Amino acid sequence: MNFDFDTLVIGAGLAGATAARRLAEDGGRRVLLVEQRPHIGGNAYDCLDEAGILVHQYGPHIFHTNDQQVFQFLSRFTDWRDYQHKVLANVYGQLMPVPFNLHSLAIAFDEEKAARLEKKLIDTFGAERKVTILELRQNTDPEIAELADYVYEHIFVHYTMKQWGTTPEQIDPNTTARVPVFLSRDDRYFQDKYQGVPAQGYTSMVAAMLDHPNITLHLDTDARSLITLGDEHLFFQGEPFSGTVIYTGAVDELFACRFGRLPYRTLDFQFETHPVEWYQTCATVNYTVDQPYTRITEFKHLSGQIKKDCTTIVKELSRAYTGAEGEIPYYAIINPENNALYERYAQLTRRYPNFHLVGRLAEYKYYNMDAIVARSLSLCDELLK
Ligand SMILES: Cc1cc2nc3c(=O)[nH]c(=O)nc-3n(C[C@H](O)[C@H](O)[C@H](O)COP(=O)(O)OP(=O)(O)OC[C@H]3O[C@@H](n4cnc5c(N)ncnc54)[C@H](O)[C@@H]3O)c2cc1C
Repeated sequence: MNFDFDTLVIGAGLAGATAARRLAEDGGRRVLLVEQRPHIGGNAYDCLDEAGILVHQYGPHIFHTNDQQVFQFLSRFTDWRDYQHKVLANVYGQLMPVPFNLHSLAIAFDEEKAARLEKKLIDTFGAERKVTILELRQNTDPEIAELADYVYEHIFVHYTMKQWGTTPEQIDPNTTARVPVFLSRDDRYFQDKYQGVPAQGYTSMVAAMLDHPNITLHLDTDARSLITLGDEHLFFQGEPFSGTVIYTGAVDELFACRFGRLPYRTLDFQFETHPVEWYQTCATVNYTVDQPYTRITEFKHLSGQIKKDCTTIVKELSRAYTGAEGEIPYYAIINPENNALYERYAQLTRRYPNFHLVGRLAEYKYYNMDAIVARSLSLCDELLK
């Protein structure tokens, strides 16, 4: 391969695409962007399935942010479909909004009890507040404390065990403490100022980001076949390379997992197309007490496509990531031990002065899409100073 570039970006997900665009456009950098998958967009990638429905191949993605800078940056590359995400919990066949709110209260309990609890909750905490189940538990009124137990048992604990493969004892009490009850009739999953999905999809948005004369994209290219990390220098195809490198892949894989693999959860996605107009009444239904899968998402609610003859859904099953061929690490398992292991790998990269780790894999962190765009923009601000 023959390249003329001064900046190497590895990974064409949102972290890499944001950096590539900003450095190419505002820094006049000549960017080589390499992506090991056959497509751009990383985990936000979407495409039409055989039924013509826009599906998210790596799980449903809803954009939401309060960050005006991020929203303005992305809005240069897409129009938005105004979509307010709603999620229902399926509790033994009964559907109720999550986060658990005043509508859920009215579904979970009989009319009299629900009305009594609503009054007590609002008198105690105030309307439109998000109260954690820890706060509810600490209340002296036994009925309020009992509500905390209901939400823990019916909404939180089994779902979390499926998602993380843990027992209740292994669930971090800090996480339990943060489970919210929303004292509101607002059924939206997010309350952020800007919320929606790209009108033509995420892949189309990322394609527009990468459409710049200073960006050269190579798909199906694993950066590890191009770069070598020497004791002090980084080599590109055998030649010392002193330009900027932005790496958005898994940091342990960069070093052949020499200290052991960083633990992750992976997901199996089961896509199904059904010959009905709608499969469920909202985009996502969480199975919080039964079923092996965590949730079912129906994509037409997200895309807004009008299609009467069929619909596509996806079921998500969570399991431990083993590193087997084709498996994708989705969720970092963040705890002190794993963070320490991550730090050993991150430390190895610090000997290369122009090498930057950014992204959910490279930083072993969970980022929402807006947060990773913000992180990538701020790294570029530093680089362009
Ligand atoms: C199931 C699921 C649902 C989600 N839903 C939402 C949501 O609703 N809203 C939201 O805001 N966020 C959501 N997220 C988070 C969102 O996916 C991330 O914020 C985003 O993908 C992070 O972008 P990234 O570029 O860091 O990582 P990625 O999207 O993973 O991109 C990294 C890219 O680097 C490539 N790569 C890795 N190693 C190499 C290598 N050696 N050579 C070449 N290329 C390489 C990978 O193939 C990949 O394309 C969700 C995440 C998951 C897992």
